[in-house]
Amino acid sequence: MGIQIGIDLGTTYSLAAIFDEKTGQPKIIPDRNGNKITPSVIQILENGEILVGWEAKEACEAGEYGCVSAFKRGMGKEEMYCTFYGKDYTSVELSAILLRYLKEEVEYVTGQTVDEAVVTVPAYFYHKERKATMTAARQAGLNIRQIINEPTAAAIHYGAKHWRENARILVYDLGGGTFDTTLIRMKKDGEMESLQTLGNHTLGGKDWDERLSNLVEEKIEADTGFRTETDRAVRQEIRQGIENVKKQLTQRNTASVRLHLPGIGLYTVNVTRDEFDQRTRDLIERTGDLCSSLLQRCGLQWTDITDILLVGGSTRMRQVPEYLKAISGHTPLAQVHPDEAVALGAAVQVHKPLPEYLVVSSTAAPAADKPYLFRRKKPAASVPETVGAEKQLSNALCVTPMDVVAHAMGVIAVNQEGTHYINKTIIPANQRIPVKYAEAFHYYTSSKSDNELEIYVLQGEKAPLECQIIGKYVVTGIVHDRAANPTIIRIQYSYDVNGMIHVQARQGDAQEDLPIREEPVPEDMSKFGRPVEMESTTVEAEPLTAMLAVDVSGSMSGTPLRDAKNAMCHFVDEVSNYPGQVRVGVIAVSDRSEIVQKPTSNAALCKMNINSIQLGKTGYGNQGQPFNDILSELKDVAGIRLALVLADGVWSRQAHAVRRAHACHAQGIQVTGIGFGSADVKFLQDISCGDYKSMLVSQSELKRSFGKIAQEISGSAGSQKSGRSESTAADTWRATGER
Ligand code: ADP
Ligand code: MG
Repeated sequence: MGIQIGIDLGTTYSLAAIFDEKTGQPKIIPDRNGNKITPSVIQILENGEILVGWEAKEACEAGEYGCVSAFKRGMGKEEMYCTFYGKDYTSVELSAILLRYLKEEVEYVTGQTVDEAVVTVPAYFYHKERKATMTAARQAGLNIRQIINEPTAAAIHYGAKHWRENARILVYDLGGGTFDTTLIRMKKDGEMESLQTLGNHTLGGKDWDERLSNLVEEKIEADTGFRTETDRAVRQEIRQGIENVKKQLTQRNTASVRLHLPGIGLYTVNVTRDEFDQRTRDLIERTGDLCSSLLQRCGLQWTDITDILLVGGSTRMRQVPEYLKAISGHTPLAQVHPDEAVALGAAVQVHKPLPEYLVVSSTAAPAADKPYLFRRKKPAASVPETVGAEKQLSNALCVTPMDVVAHAMGVIAVNQEGTHYINKTIIPANQRIPVKYAEAFHYYTSSKSDNELEIYVLQGEKAPLECQIIGKYVVTGIVHDRAANPTIIRIQYSYDVNGMIHVQARQGDAQEDLPIREEPVPEDMSKFGRPVEMESTTVEAEPLTAMLAVDVSGSMSGTPLRDAKNAMCHFVDEVSNYPGQVRVGVIAVSDRSEIVQKPTSNAALCKMNINSIQLGKTGYGNQGQPFNDILSELKDVAGIRLALVLADGVWSRQAHAVRRAHACHAQGIQVTGIGFGSADVKFLQDISCGDYKSMLVSQSELKRSFGKIAQEISGSAGSQKSGRSESTAADTWRATGER
């Protein structure tokens, strides 16, 4: 049997640890060279070999090609993180390389196979970033037992050694790329609860480096007039060495940078810690503001905090404890190793049973004026509980953490007035995980035709478009029972033990889940930022049925037919923006008329059949006319009925065709003749009747003309982009009238 490990997958440095059952304590596993920490840096070589860790970091500092670092910052984003030798790498792939390296080093050093891992992430990571971490682990051949939050892991490690009943510990974690602050409460018997967490995952040591580089560059320019932005090599040299300069300022009051400046020679710049602190004051204040907000959210003040625990390499900067002491009155604890605590805490967690789901069951949805069903009980600041004396727990496993997810989970819904899209909170922020909101929502859908329900899940508490849009979940297979209106769909939202989101749905009292399809979130979500009003007027829009008749006589051979098909497909796409129900049918006509597609609301099917139209199927001549088929398909249909007839050249029996067209007009069917090639203008006018005038166009204009008519029909000529799947979402939401 293999072993389980804890991994701190950091932006800058990563570590692996195991739990030593003999001592009851976790320990770091150094790599085969004895290094306890591994820089999260990778170098891709031309021959396909990969360097990871210290060697890669050195190569990176020497400015070699193929080096990449800080890729954790790109987790959860789709785009490529870097490209070397023509190959693209995503953050997930790079993280997988690093994870595989860590796993293999542990296997080499311990001589055992690694089966499973607990991997840590910043508490502020969203679902997407956690999911990306999961994917990376899978790619690395690692089974993830659990993903836990970095501050929680650090607190587990600290707590085992320094347990104090009722203590409130503020974990301040400033790493290379992220900042997290978490309030943790030690309860009785090793029970440890995360109360709240806040953070900024684009704030970390790298930002301090950046400021220090700027400071050095400004000094050089002020002293010598040399402008570093004009010389890439000099600039690179400064940036490569800057982390060490920063570290020197942790040890000493002054650090110096020696550079060779072209035209000037060897030059030394001195930077003092005061200058550095001043230049980065606003950065540290940002961390302080987040700590204050955290306390405020918990209804606490600094005096209610027992201790501050520093985690992360950047907390070594002298300004950190000094600043925290100044704002809080507490001298931060120095007992945990800022680099190791997280990995050690993760290693403890590998031996713990996973916590059970907390099921929050409610038959009613949250009332609008009380968006949070279950608000966390605030720790009572006014009744100070006595904080116990510090003790060491016999075994680190005695610490039972109860974690939270920093972000609220919500869905896009329509407000009660039906005017605006809102972010309806389902699970409040900082709810203990894992948690299921059973039957949190009821959807009443009145439409008999939809058997799908689209749900956009959000993380965050702001308006829909200011939140992270986690995913589009389409509940499928809804069966509409005519007798039972409305149809009730129960949706269950959950955060699992890893802080990841799951959506399940059931119809009525069914015991089986309905299938859910995850679709990519449409690029254009802007409609959710606009009032619903615009569309609610169009909800009642009459159904629209359009027949497209296309001339397929011999003269259409080649590009004319191809362009006509394109134009018709374009029409199908554009007309989908029509606010009511739309169906489109297709007729091919030459010597005879044939229905290629009966009116359908399935755009994909319709386009497929348009594309399958072939010349000669209905003869090569011009004897036929489509109006009998148009009439038969449209005469008994309710709503707006439209026929677009595309004619190439002159038809053999035009007078007959005109008479049959008039029969359509008499039934209220609007006809528009569109001609190209040598089509007869008079004939086109005669067959046309209704809102959309006949037209004679060139072959190249066909697509635009069809599109224009579709846009006019949809009431949005010219302005609307195609991208219609969301409109069904809106319709569904509106129709559902959530309570
Ligand atoms: P992460 O968890 O993001 O990988 P770490 O906790 O390993 O980050 O912290 C790395 C950061 O700590 C880097 O920005 C590094 O420059 C900074 N750091 C490490 N040692 C020191 C030091 N002695 N003084 C100042 N900053 C340091
Ligand atoms: Mg870290």
